[in-house]
Formats: sequence, structure tokens, C-alpha cells
Amino acid sequence: TNLPLANRVAVITGASSGIGEATAELLAERGAAVALLARRADRLKDLADRIEKLGGTALALPVDVTDLDSLNAAAERVQAELGTADLLFNNAGVMLPSGVNELRTDLWQRQIDLNITGLMNAIGAFTPQLVAAAADKGVADLVNTSSIAATGVFPKFAVYTGSKAFVSHMSRNLRAELGPQRVRVSAVEPGIVRSELQAHVTDDGVNEWLAEAFAAYEVLESSDIAEAVAFLAQQPARVNIPEITVMPTGQV
Ligand code: NDP
Repeated sequence: TNLPLANRVAVITGASSGIGEATAELLAERGAAVALLARRADRLKDLADRIEKLGGTALALPVDVTDLDSLNAAAERVQAELGTADLLFNNAGVMLPSGVNELRTDLWQRQIDLNITGLMNAIGAFTPQLVAAAADKGVADLVNTSSIAATGVFPKFAVYTGSKAFVSHMSRNLRAELGPQRVRVSAVEPGIVRSELQAHVTDDGVNEWLAEAFAAYEVLESSDIAEAVAFLAQQPARVNIPEITVMPTGQV
């Protein structure tokens, strides 16, 4: 077919909701075969069924990305069932703000385990395929979901913002390493997006601040970020956009 992403094999982490789900749908609609990774198997299966009904190709792979062994097993299945992955949308993440004085080391750890360790696990599991695909097809993509939190300052978000600063700066450095191997590395930095991300927030003050933001302006939809990821992937092989920031028009 002449769909823009025909013959591409995309792996999406955090595909069971929000930005990952919307991106899986859009990449599939543009012709990519998609591997769907997250923990909730039922949600992944529903999404895979929906994509296949529309004529797409999808593989649901329930996996906890904090577990490197499961990710390596998932990578083998992608290779065997869809072919060599040439796009990783490394997107699973969690936002659990709390005041530092509360010493919620459990919330600190969950954010570090997923946003940093989980992200690196996926890079470890899929980079060999990205490099092989790039040598074969001329280009591959590693797109990491960061946030405006990578550079922004928000009280009670120290660990989350730190984890996203890691994602953005690690991406810049990995780009220097993988670019010469034809693997484009990009960080996507969204402002506020309507998704399940906010539903996990337990801090009252932060929930109030979020409710005010949602009331004050129209926040982004997950599909807006999906469009940005497809835009990155559809560039000619010589073009790598290292960072793309997407803001709600009304968010300052
Ligand atoms: P959601 O909560 O809707 O999506 C998070 C996804 O991550 C879910 O699919 C969830 O699935 C998955 N996930 C959570 N834990 C794990 C795990 N251990 N292993 C595998 N998958 C896991 O939020 P968003 O779509 O908004 O978030 C996606 C990314 O976007 C995150 O990195 C977030 O930080 C970032 N972001 C979001 C913004 C926003 O305002 N929404 C703004 C800027 C950045 P499951 O529970 O089934 O495992």
C-alpha cells in the first residue's frame, strides 16, 4: 500500500490508555504494524481487536516494563511475529506528585522505576532491533515521551520533573550515539493532556491545581500527541527532530 508508514514495525509502551493508545491507533491507521505493551491485558486485547477490525496489524503483549526479562521476551515475540522493530515509542510513565516533607519514598520509587528504569529497559530490549532495522531500511525511530516538566518548575513535582529531565537529556545524548547508525532519537514534551495520568494523583493541592487548569483552558487530547509522533516518523530519513514540544494553546 502507499500508506505513509507501510512496512514499518512500531512498538508502543503504555499502549493501554491515553497517549500510547491514541498513538498505536494512528500509527496503525497510517500502515504500521503495531506491538502494544502495557500491563492491562484486557485493554490491550480490545485495542488490538479494534485495530485489526480496521484492517491493521496489532500484537498485544502484556508486560510490566520495569521487568527487563519480560521486555526481552516481548522483543523476541515482536521480531518473530511482526518483524524487526523500527520504531519504539517509549511512552509508559506515571506522575505521582507529593510534598518532599511527606517522605513518600514509595511514590518516589514508583516514578523512578517506571519513568527511568522502565524507559531504559525498553531501550535495552529494542535498540538491537532498531539498529538492525536502520541498517536494512535506512532509518528507524526511538521516540521517548518526556514532558514540559523536563524543564519546568512545579512545586511537589520534584521527582517527576527530575525523571523527565532524565528522559530529555538522555535522549539528546543517545541521539549523538545512535544518529550515526541511522536511528533517529526524539523526545516529545507535551503540556497537559487529558488521559488517565491525573487519575493517580493523590495530593489534594495538586488535584485542585489540575482541576483549575482543566477549567481554565482546553487541554490537549491524546490524539494531538499521536499526530506529533506520526509527524516525526514520517520525515525523510535525513530529518531528525530531536525535541518537539506540544502545548495546549491556553497553557502558559
Ligand atoms: P496514562 O496513565 O493514560 O498512560 C500511562 C500508560 O503507562 C498506561 O498505558 C499504563 O498501562 C502504562 N504503564 C504504567 N505502568 C506500567 C508498567 N509498569 N509497565 C508497562 N506499562 C505501564 O497517561 P498518559 O497517556 O498521559 O501518559 C503517557 C506518557 O505521557 C507518560 O510518560 C507521561 O509522563 C507523559 N506525559 C503526560 C502528560 C499528561 O498531561 N497526560 C503530559 C506530559 C507527559 P497499564 O496500567 O495497563 O500498565
